[in-house]
Amino acid sequence: MAKVDITEKVVSLSKRRGFVFQSSEIYGGLNGCYDYGPLGVELLKNVKEAWWKDMTFRENIEGLDASILMHPRVWEASGHVENFTDPMVDCKECKCRFRADILEEIDCGSKAYKGRKAIKCQQEGKFTEARNFNLMFKSHIGPMEDSTNVVYLRPETAQGIYVNFLNVKESSRQKLPFGIAQIGKAFRNEINTKNFLFRTREFEQMEMQFFIRPEEDAKWFEYWKEQRINWFVKYGIKREKLNIHEHEKLAHYAKSAVDIEYEFPFGFGEIEGIHNRTDFDLKRHTEYSGKRLEYFDDQTKEKFTPYVIETSAGASRSFMAFLINAYDEEEVTKENSDGSKSTEMRTILHLHPALAPIKVAVFPLVNRDGMQDIAHNITEDLRNNFKVFYDDSGAVGRRYRRQDECGTPFCVTVDSETLENSTVTIRERDSMVQERISKDKITEYIHEKLRI
Ligand code: ATP
Repeated sequence: MAKVDITEKVVSLSKRRGFVFQSSEIYGGLNGCYDYGPLGVELLKNVKEAWWKDMTFRENIEGLDASILMHPRVWEASGHVENFTDPMVDCKECKCRFRADILEEIDCGSKAYKGRKAIKCQQEGKFTEARNFNLMFKSHIGPMEDSTNVVYLRPETAQGIYVNFLNVKESSRQKLPFGIAQIGKAFRNEINTKNFLFRTREFEQMEMQFFIRPEEDAKWFEYWKEQRINWFVKYGIKREKLNIHEHEKLAHYAKSAVDIEYEFPFGFGEIEGIHNRTDFDLKRHTEYSGKRLEYFDDQTKEKFTPYVIETSAGASRSFMAFLINAYDEEEVTKENSDGSKSTEMRTILHLHPALAPIKVAVFPLVNRDGMQDIAHNITEDLRNNFKVFYDDSGAVGRRYRRQDECGTPFCVTVDSETLENSTVTIRERDSMVQERISKDKITEYIHEKLRI
């Protein structure tokens, strides 16, 4: 399958099956914003839950949910007001605007030049000088719009963690090393949005800040790098599709930084950054707020500002990586009603069962002899534990295909044998192997398969 096709196919599947829709579609859409449909919201929730469990089901990591709007001084202290900019250029010919540092990625936005690469226009001298454009969305608190009541939509969740460092440390009685994890929306007024969910103006982040003694930074940096790669692999991302990109040019706050990149159809793109942010943020907030964000080690009797190792993943970018990674089309043999065999294509999402939006589908083989009632009862029972889909329309093969396309890992079918001995078939999505099990054992069976 051609690489470019995959993104197009995933975008089309997303719309058709209800993973992702363009925001405000009936009004022509809003650039860089997306809505998660019935299946998408489940997948996104499962990605976030898998991350949350992996991070916070540990002795030394606490959770937090800080507000999106924060005191404007936060963004002065963090350096975002001054530095959170991208270089922007305008094309004098077609009047489009581009981010100057990623021109290779970008096509000309004008319909008249469809398919033309923006970099070509730069080479032909059509661009203005680059100007810095601040990516933070700005608004005002209260009815008056003046400079005294400016607020920003947060461009990252990390700052909410730093300003709560003392609150969390004291309320949870944590000692170094310990971390604070947060999942939440972030907003960036990106100059160009592109590649579906990869670069959007509203997105979700899953960030963890790990506070450590300064001399232990190299050790913890390596530790978190490995942990985070393993997390993606554990949930089904193919290891060979991941790349670790070391930054040569570091952000103003960082001592070392790597990106975990996934090989999207358009090339490698960052899905998570691991940064050694040193004591930059805690020191800046100490300076700007006048509150000492320090740590007292009661064994060594030292007082110091901890260093921070940050793991910063995009929930929406990871969502896209999981979807693309899972997408597949296979030729399968099907048995026709006259007993002959033929082949057909099946579209399948090989999502890890823990991430799959629907865990199990239940079908009566035919709509007679009380099979529907039994299937309904099984569905209700399974709903105590899982997201379940009941389907009694069309040939059973068609019902399997519909579930394969949604990534549903198990399909249970009630048939004539169920009437005799209370067993059902349970079919596994990837292998298509069917087993017969007692209908009372389905919950246990699925729980077992979902265990990581
Ligand atoms: P990029 O260079 O792609 O703009 P970044 O280096 O600015 O990304 P970080 O500030 O490190 O990104 O943000 C951490 C994570 O947040 C990224 O790895 C990515 O998964 C996610 N992210 C950042 N910007 C966006 C965006 N515009 N849309 C979707 N996800 C984003």
